[in-house]
Amino acid sequence: MSKRFFDRKFNIYKINYNNISKDMRKIEIILKSLLIKTARKIKEYRFRKPKNVLNLIAPLSAILILILTVNFWQSKDFGLLVKYKGQAIATVKNEETFNQASVLVMSRRMVQNNNKCITPQYELTDVGGNISTITSMYYNLVNQCQDDLSDGCGLFVNNNFLGAVKNKSDLDAILNAAKAEKRNNGIKNAQAIFYDSVQTVNGLYPTKSFVNIENMAGLVSREVKFAFTIQSSAQKSVPFKIVKISDNNKFEDYSQVKKQGVIGKENCITQISYMSGKKVKSNVISEQVTKAPVDEVLIVGTKKLTAGVATGTFAWPVPYSHIVSSVFGPRFGAFHSGVDIAGPNVQGQDINASDGGTVTFAGMDDSGYGNCVIIEHGKSYKTLYGHASMLYVHVGEKVKKGQKIASVGMTGDADGYHLHFEIWKNNVKVDPLGYLNYKYTIDESE
Ligand SMILES: [Zn+2]
Repeated sequence: MSKRFFDRKFNIYKINYNNISKDMRKIEIILKSLLIKTARKIKEYRFRKPKNVLNLIAPLSAILILILTVNFWQSKDFGLLVKYKGQAIATVKNEETFNQASVLVMSRRMVQNNNKCITPQYELTDVGGNISTITSMYYNLVNQCQDDLSDGCGLFVNNNFLGAVKNKSDLDAILNAAKAEKRNNGIKNAQAIFYDSVQTVNGLYPTKSFVNIENMAGLVSREVKFAFTIQSSAQKSVPFKIVKISDNNKFEDYSQVKKQGVIGKENCITQISYMSGKKVKSNVISEQVTKAPVDEVLIVGTKKLTAGVATGTFAWPVPYSHIVSSVFGPRFGAFHSGVDIAGPNVQGQDINASDGGTVTFAGMDDSGYGNCVIIEHGKSYKTLYGHASMLYVHVGEKVKKGQKIASVGMTGDADGYHLHFEIWKNNVKVDPLGYLNYKYTIDESE
């Protein structure tokens, strides 16, 4: 049988051990029956001619020796003596031990190259109680290959093998020393880390790749790149969630905060890596909520807005601007009966119905409102929109809350582009800002 081990062929002499012991047993049986026959003859001679007994002792002892010899070999274990270049290197129970040890050698070779290794020869032998296990056979093989392969610890940087040393602890010490040397490289409290993937792996390496400690330290300082990290901790706010509760008694434009949300806080620890003074990586290591946020509860209406139907609340009529340039009240010795909504570039922006209702006026007004719309919202309320450039509704039209009815202009008595907006309650003009539930700013320079 021939088999490849590394790059050479070797031969194994196949021996059937079972046959050997069977043959031995046959011989033993024959010899035992011979002995019994001889003993009978001795008995017969003792009674007949005692003088001749001695003549029988010599062949009898020869048989005894033979029996003892057979028993001796029977009690022995046979094995295979593995020889290499005429020298015995191990005794194994069978070929399998050698094969498995070879596979182990192969699998522990960390760097592939054309290693020459042993060409064993086998001889049948008495094991003599000293049989090799796979592990000891492995070490025997490694010892035989010492010119090519040695057990050690290799350094891999980005999966490239750089070299090996005998002990992993030496390699670890070199790497740690290099890290310690690089520490505090201009950055306060910085820790040195490997920038590349650095691995130390135990295994079999080409003997020529082994370097001494000093050379390995040199390799590390030349080939391994370091980065520097600092940990920074920062307080971050955690937004709250908004939980919406539907209310089908309220119109769809309705929303009311039932419970105010509270922003939470968390402590965030980040590891920042630098290389040559430049930030190269930033990893969040931990986030710990120090104050849990509180959900906001919002009630929202679901009832559909319908043309002609008043909701009972008034919406801001110019979504584009929330700047009030003139409030309701006495002005220049007269009385300003509404609010003026202005703002940069407000010209031509949408004017929407502040609530649903029926248009009772849409056209040019002679008293100073210019292009004007009046909407009636049920019996008690009316809204008026003045100085518009364009009108989009007509008298008798039912409008929805939020529907576009006109565009901002400066028709009638107006100094600049704005909406003059009035709310009438039972035909009395009231301050619209008391009804508009919106945030606004008052800027009378507009
Ligand atoms: Zn006005």
